[in-house]
Amino acid sequence: MITLQGKGVSAGIAKGRLAFLKRTSVSVEKRSINDVEQEIERFDAARRTAAEQLDQLAGSMITKIGEENALLFEIHRMMLEDTDYIDPIIEIIKTEKVCAEYAVNTAGSRLAQEFADMDDEYMRARAVDVYDISKRVVEVLSGEEQTLARSDEPVILATDDFTPSETAQLDRNKVLALVSRQGAVNSHTAIFARTMGIPAIIGFGAFLSGDLAGKEAILDGDTGVLHLDPDPEVVERLEAKKEELRKEKEKLESLRGKPTRTKGGRSMKLYANIGSVSDADAALAGDAEGVGLFRSEFLYLGRNDYPDEETQYESYRKVLEKMGDRLVIIRTLDIGADKQADYFSLPKEENPALGMRAIRICLTRPPIFKTQLRAIYRASAHGNAAIMFPMINSLDELLRAKEAAKAAREELAAKGVPFNAAVPIGIMVETPASAVISDVLAEEAAFFSIGTNDLTQYTLAVDRQNDSISAFCDTRHEAILRLIKLTCDNAHKAGIWCGICGSLGADLTLTQTFVEMGLDELSVEPSRILKLRSMISEC
Ligand code: PEP
Ligand code: MG
Repeated sequence: MITLQGKGVSAGIAKGRLAFLKRTSVSVEKRSINDVEQEIERFDAARRTAAEQLDQLAGSMITKIGEENALLFEIHRMMLEDTDYIDPIIEIIKTEKVCAEYAVNTAGSRLAQEFADMDDEYMRARAVDVYDISKRVVEVLSGEEQTLARSDEPVILATDDFTPSETAQLDRNKVLALVSRQGAVNSHTAIFARTMGIPAIIGFGAFLSGDLAGKEAILDGDTGVLHLDPDPEVVERLEAKKEELRKEKEKLESLRGKPTRTKGGRSMKLYANIGSVSDADAALAGDAEGVGLFRSEFLYLGRNDYPDEETQYESYRKVLEKMGDRLVIIRTLDIGADKQADYFSLPKEENPALGMRAIRICLTRPPIFKTQLRAIYRASAHGNAAIMFPMINSLDELLRAKEAAKAAREELAAKGVPFNAAVPIGIMVETPASAVISDVLAEEAAFFSIGTNDLTQYTLAVDRQNDSISAFCDTRHEAILRLIKLTCDNAHKAGIWCGICGSLGADLTLTQTFVEMGLDELSVEPSRILKLRSMISEC
């Protein structure tokens, strides 16, 4: 038996034969040309055809991978129209007098490499998108289409890295699981695999060599382990796990649509953390009673300029409409630190986590804050919205943020734009300072939601981005638990509710503690909700 360890990005157990994805490759030759203008026109025509293909693909993929995911193909089309993509290709055709296929391949590879070298994990994952669009243009130019040769028998499919187009077009009945040498947790391939319910493991590197093709395999997409020629005991263990997961799922399904209650009969709310419009579907599928944290950063990341009010309004409105009368807590912009967007031109800082981030940016750049607040208020006419400010450290910051919300309301009212003037305004408690003065903050906040990810980072002085010190990060540290208890008690004294939206909320070893502390709400990844409801019912 050979055992390989990768990074599990889509859970599930799969057993079958390992097959490598065969691409009938389109060869790209360096061919000299005489007529530069004609070659540029050839490239332009191919680009337009590729754009049309992507439009069609976006339309046809909606049912398979969801509306929001299918939007990726629209983004690919936009990339094809971007001068940053086009200009270097034309430059190569002009200066080297070579064919368009070669120019697209060369410039595309360089751009993909630039993305691959970036610090930001999200941007690194975009390299495969550039590769994907270049491949498409080369195919159009050469008149040959790369096809994925597949066997009729369902297999565990392996390759270097799957492009988003390939993953989206996979036949679910022929693919038991995906495994790759490269890949990123945030790649669209990983996202699509989760959406389609295909177990997937990435990042095996060269260990996933071609000579393993045809071997019997079994994998666990949760732990990221792939066994080849597995020992009978391993197969037995993983098949037992699969059966256990199936039974557990069946049990949890019986809790769908039921209220969340402790053993003693106290009601709690189980909300979902979401980061995009399509995540609202996952929240509903997970049986969330609301959205406890809508990370609005997705609107600002991965783009070249600020999202305007209309763009933001549309996204908030869509989520509110999808969630119906369930509460949707929209967290205002939390950019900075680990979430960087170049166009903000944030200063280079020694300690970005202690620097210009979250509410600090909003309070020092009022127009950005106002645009977002106006968009949220406008959307509030379409559902049950709440606003939540991140990283509030003092009463003064909270009052200034609330003043900005009031100004946005006044502007909309003056223009007769409909909105809900009674949108509750709460805060995230993410620093020791805010937990310690939570009695004061509770007088001005409609609710508290404890961001344990940052609260842990700032209380224990452990950088949440730094893997090398993770051994020093005791997420269940007594100091954190005491700060949560203090915050919850102060909320209740002031008559407001208190929840947790950081990762700790989903820690099942602490559910009993949180129930005993009297927390009113936990906001977690949608897939955790039914399990937590089951756990709470036993506490
Ligand atoms: C937190 O800090 O716990 C939190 C939920 O916010 P984020 O993880 O987005 O910083
Ligand atoms: Mg935070």
